[in-house]
Amino acid sequence: MKYKLKKGDIVQVIKGKDKGKKGRILKIFREEGRVLVEGVNFVKKHMKPRSVDKQGGIILVEKPISISNVNYFCLKCSKPTRLGIRFLEDGTKVRYCKKCKEVVEEKEK
Ligand SMILES: [Zn+2]
Repeated sequence: MKYKLKKGDIVQVIKGKDKGKKGRILKIFREEGRVLVEGVNFVKKHMKPRSVDKQGGIILVEKPISISNVNYFCLKCSKPTRLGIRFLEDGTKVRYCKKCKEVVEEKEK
């Protein structure tokens, strides 16, 4: 697996207009190499009025950004970091923070 990031991980944007922003991964598009991050990369979208009493207008929606533009954000050492993979004694594969070496909790099985 090329990307060690998973849905639910907190990442920090390291490039582009949202540089420095942090958010949770909502969705990963592995084939495109993109991630959808909560609160990051809002773009304007025009909405058509759906009914007489509801107005159309412009809403903001998040768009996926390149996975290479984000780094995993470690909540234990509060730093953007890279993830490593290691195996526990029982053979379980876990991800760990390369900065503080703490094992990352798995949010998605
Ligand atoms: Zn860490």
